[in-house]
Amino acid sequence: MASPFRSYLNDLYNKHRGLKKGRVADYIPELALASADSFGICVVSTDGQTFEVGDCDKTFTIQSISKAFVFGLALEDHGRKYVNSKVGMEPTGEAFNSIILDEATNRPYNPMVNSGAIATTDLIKGRNGTERLKRILEMFGRYTGRAHDINVPVFLSEKETGHRNRAMAFLMLNFSMVSEKIDETLDLYFQQCSMLVNAKDLAMMSATLANGGVNPVTGIRAIEERYVQDVISLMLTCGMYDASGEWAYRVGIPAKSGVAGGITAVASGKLGIGIYSPPLDAKGNSTRGIKVCEEISRDFGLHMFNTATPKHDLVTWMNGDHDSLGW
Ligand code: GLN
Repeated sequence: MASPFRSYLNDLYNKHRGLKKGRVADYIPELALASADSFGICVVSTDGQTFEVGDCDKTFTIQSISKAFVFGLALEDHGRKYVNSKVGMEPTGEAFNSIILDEATNRPYNPMVNSGAIATTDLIKGRNGTERLKRILEMFGRYTGRAHDINVPVFLSEKETGHRNRAMAFLMLNFSMVSEKIDETLDLYFQQCSMLVNAKDLAMMSATLANGGVNPVTGIRAIEERYVQDVISLMLTCGMYDASGEWAYRVGIPAKSGVAGGITAVASGKLGIGIYSPPLDAKGNSTRGIKVCEEISRDFGLHMFNTATPKHDLVTWMNGDHDSLGW
C-alpha cells in the first residue's frame, strides 16, 4: 500500500509543475542549457526512508549549495575558533556576489556568500589542488553515499568568466584575508561549484545534517557531530542569499540554494528535502523550490518555531498507509 506522504508529494509536484515564474540562470552558457521544465522533489527521513517524485535522478551542478558543506569541512580541518577568525557569521543583506567585506574584523561576512566561500575553500587542507579537490569530493560522497564528478564544461566556463570572483579573491589577498595560493583556491572553488548532484543527493545531504551528521541510509558519518549546528545555523541566517530573512519567516527550515536550481533544506531530527527546478526568482532561488518547501513546512508543522498542531502528522503520513488515514 502506498504511503500517504508519497501521494502528498505527487500532488505537490502536479500542483507546481506548471508554474512558469522565474528564469533559468544564464551567466554562463552551460547553465542556460537547463530545461525550465525539469522538476524533482525528494525527501529523506532521518530513519532512512526516501520519497521522490519527478526528475530526481537528473544531475545538475551543486553551485552555492556546496558552500555550506565545505564550511563544515573547514571546521573539521581547523576548529571553530580559527575558522571564525577567518570568516564571519553575519548575513549581508546583499546579493551573493557582492563585493563587500567586514573591514572592522578583516573578514568576509559569512561562508555562504562568494567572498566568504572563497575564504572558506582557502582553508581546505591538502598538499596540492588535486588532493584538496579529492578531499572535498570524498566529503560530499560521505553525505550522499555515492561518488561525485565535476562537470568540466561548467568548471571551465566558471573559470573563464569568473572575473568578479577572481577580483574579490585578490581583494581579500590584498587584505591578508586569504593565503597566497589564491589561483589554486579559485580553481577549487569553481570545481566545488561544478560538482554534479541530483535532487536525491541534496535530500540525502540535508537528511545527514538533520541526523546529526550521519547518513541515515549508509550509517557513515559525514561531519563531526559538534559542527552540525554551525552549518545549519548559517544556512538559516545566510543560506538563501538576500532572501534568507523572508525564508526563515515563511518556511523556517534552514536551507541552501544554488544557481543551477537546487535547494537543500534541513528539518533537524526529522528529514532533509532536496529540490531541483532551474527557474530562479530575482534573488537567485528556485521559484518552484520555494513554493514546495513553504507548503511542506506548513502542512507538516516543520517551521522550526512552530508550536501549533500541524495539518498532517509527519510520522503517521510517512509510515502509515492510505487505509489507516481513512483514504
Ligand atoms: N559558481 C557561482 C558563482 O560563484 C555560484 C553562485 C551561486 O550558486 N549562487 O558565482
